[in-house]
Amino acid sequence: MTRAVWGIGVVLLVLATAPAQAYLKFGVDVGGRTVPVRWSPGAIRYFIFERDFGGVSAQAFSDAIGRATTTWNAVPGLPVSFSAQGLTRSQPLEADGRTTLGFLDRPDQERVLGATTFLLDATTGALIESDIYFNTRFRWSTAAAGEPGATDLESVALHELGHLLGLGHSAIGETEVTANGRRVLSTGAVMFPIAWPAGAIADRVLQPDDIAGVRDLYDVLPAAEFGSIQGRVTKNGRGVYGAHIVAFGLESGEMIGGYTLNTNGDFVIAGVREGPHILRVEPLDDADLESFFGPANVDIAFSVTYGPRLAVVQAGGATSPLTIEVRPK
Ligand SMILES: [Zn+2]
Repeated sequence: MTRAVWGIGVVLLVLATAPAQAYLKFGVDVGGRTVPVRWSPGAIRYFIFERDFGGVSAQAFSDAIGRATTTWNAVPGLPVSFSAQGLTRSQPLEADGRTTLGFLDRPDQERVLGATTFLLDATTGALIESDIYFNTRFRWSTAAAGEPGATDLESVALHELGHLLGLGHSAIGETEVTANGRRVLSTGAVMFPIAWPAGAIADRVLQPDDIAGVRDLYDVLPAAEFGSIQGRVTKNGRGVYGAHIVAFGLESGEMIGGYTLNTNGDFVIAGVREGPHILRVEPLDDADLESFFGPANVDIAFSVTYGPRLAVVQAGGATSPLTIEVRPK
């Protein structure tokens, strides 16, 4: 079900919840200071674990990862870019200084398709390596059109590579609860925590929210076409922590999400295109809360609420602050 679960093995990883950040980013505590997990400008060199599994050869695996890295590399202005270094005999999760992607046997992780781990320098917060494993508990496919009953490797890779870049989860998506867990009804982000059912290939393409998130993380938002929306979410007049706000552009048709990340209920959604936007505030109830924030005082006891007026974004600026009062539930 979920694509990644955090806190495995050697992982040194905390979700950053610094105020006034539009997107969830990973951060590490370095001497009492939260340092964002992100790569220095330049190439992110990665290796492929030389292992065939279930009809997917190491070469087919490598090609699928190559397509997913090409998709991220195409994000305009990104100062980092993935660079393939070939095959290696060492598997993911080995702390060898090499960023490695490959199949791994994790029969214990019933619902984890794949996961991303980080190894960081505890004194500086600098990234040493980041590995991604794909769980052999599942059937995988690299078929061009997808394969019924098999999970699309490229789609999951695109999601995990987003984590590797430093992105947390997006909450733009709707699910329903079934006997086997949650089923995705719709999403507007590859970084939504729950994958489409096996066979789907929809997540081979980045959505505007994914692109806005990674550009925000790497400080590459040009002032020319983008601005930001700021405001506050309240309930009974008090700030709401952990509310999800989605801005829907009436002209662009794009959906970009953000969160209130302090107890005052403040939010900023950066990287939004010019023009009028509808704001929708919703509780984080479409996946396990921990997949977004980790244990925290997230308030989900309120009804979906729309902004009292359109937020009109102007290039290079922020909207005047908008308060959205939600109804308790
Ligand atoms: Zn994930």
